Amino acid sequence: MKRRTFSGARPTGRQHLGNYLGALQNWVSLQSGYDCIYCVVDIHALTTLEDTSGLQKNIHEMVLDWLAAGLDPKKSILFVQSHVPEVTELHTLLSMITPLSWLLRVPTFKEKVKLQPQNVNYGLVGYPVLMTADIILYKAEVVPVGEDQLPHLELAREITRRFNYLFGDTFPEPGAKLTSFPLVLGLDGKEKMSKQLGNDIELALSEEETVARVMEAVTDPARRYRDDPGHPEICNIFRLHGYFSPLQQDDLAAQCRTAEIGCVDCKKLLAQEINDTLRSFRERRAALAGKPKYITDVLADGASRARVIARETMREVKRNIGLL
Ligand code: SF4
Repeated sequence: MKRRTFSGARPTGRQHLGNYLGALQNWVSLQSGYDCIYCVVDIHALTTLEDTSGLQKNIHEMVLDWLAAGLDPKKSILFVQSHVPEVTELHTLLSMITPLSWLLRVPTFKEKVKLQPQNVNYGLVGYPVLMTADIILYKAEVVPVGEDQLPHLELAREITRRFNYLFGDTFPEPGAKLTSFPLVLGLDGKEKMSKQLGNDIELALSEEETVARVMEAVTDPARRYRDDPGHPEICNIFRLHGYFSPLQQDDLAAQCRTAEIGCVDCKKLLAQEINDTLRSFRERRAALAGKPKYITDVLADGASRARVIARETMREVKRNIGLL
């Protein structure tokens, strides 16, 4: 029997290269070796989202990208978190055994408090508890994560251990599976690629839009003139080349250091590599975009399959706690 893996993403709408290289490619490849569950975590989004008017559109656009990238609803369960309400029930039960001190020390909570001091809601503190419920409701054993998510997963493991200690072995402790490209920087070359920061390249852009976007990227600040020698090791364009044409990186580094290639040509080359890589994705996406009911059906089917597992887990949880 295959081991089960769970992963979720907030409904951020159209996905970007950071999502693709950091998570999506990995999710697609996991389908051959694991029993995969992929979830649009719309309830998590409410911890930071005050305007929910774009939520349904964002879910639709994101799932469109997932399917075009190769997530296969016949192999994986794809669903929306709030469509399986058992997760909120498990979240409540886990919140009773999770010491508040564990949650208050989570670095991302402290960051969020700084970022949105006007909206420090209960959900922000309880975020890791809901995340734990997401994973263990389906008894997932493996969670594909980036390095920045490791502390959250460790907390999920602690909460799981505490539940098992108090009420008997119920859940497997979820383990991390690190992605091979843990951190993709955005066009500013400083921060993680993010739609919110506006430093992203959307997968669904046209080829011309992709070229224009790549041209905006920050490169080596020491190269002010075409003849200035460059420092590829500090340039994010060089790093991005590594994801798309790793075999050419040594040549490119030498050409950059001797100013044989200028930044404009180097960027054009990268945009071409991105467009070549995404051509079939974009064709599949265009075809799926014409079938909105298909996306709804995929998510409804995913939710009903996820719910079968969730209901069974909740019966066991309640029996072990003594609620049944
Ligand atoms: Fe970066 Fe390429 Fe310019 Fe070198 S030539 S600094 S690698 S963009």
